[in-house]
Amino acid sequence: MFKFRCVNCNSVDVELYRDRQGYGQDYLNCRCGWQFYGTDRIVALYESQKAAYEESLIVEEPVVEEAPSEPLPEPSEDLCAWEACDKSPQGGRAKRRKGSKYCSRDCSNRNARYRYQQRAKKEAA
Ligand SMILES: [Zn+2]
Ligand SMILES: [Zn+2]
Repeated sequence: MFKFRCVNCNSVDVELYRDRQGYGQDYLNCRCGWQFYGTDRIVALYESQKAAYEESLIVEEPVVEEAPSEPLPEPSEDLCAWEACDKSPQGGRAKRRKGSKYCSRDCSNRNARYRYQQRAKKEAA
């Protein structure tokens, strides 16, 4: 919370004396003997102290370094159409052969058998 402070001793025990005649000659009086005259000057001093206080509250956020983006996975169109294919060196779906939806004749056959079984199940139901 912002508190106006004496320019001389940095104390918050500064009293404001109102100019009862309305000449804009309010003045500040501190216990250390510091005095400051003029309503406009007091307002300006108050505002500048408040601005400096609020600036000190702003904590700079640390710069977060962006992690390098992961390489995009291979488009699945290049992979064997048999979903249970395990013929790649890593044991997953292998790349399909040119001119074929499958990486191998084996996968083509397994896929055909799978589809045939699905169709047979449907017809049985
Ligand atoms: Zn003072
Ligand atoms: Zn395959």
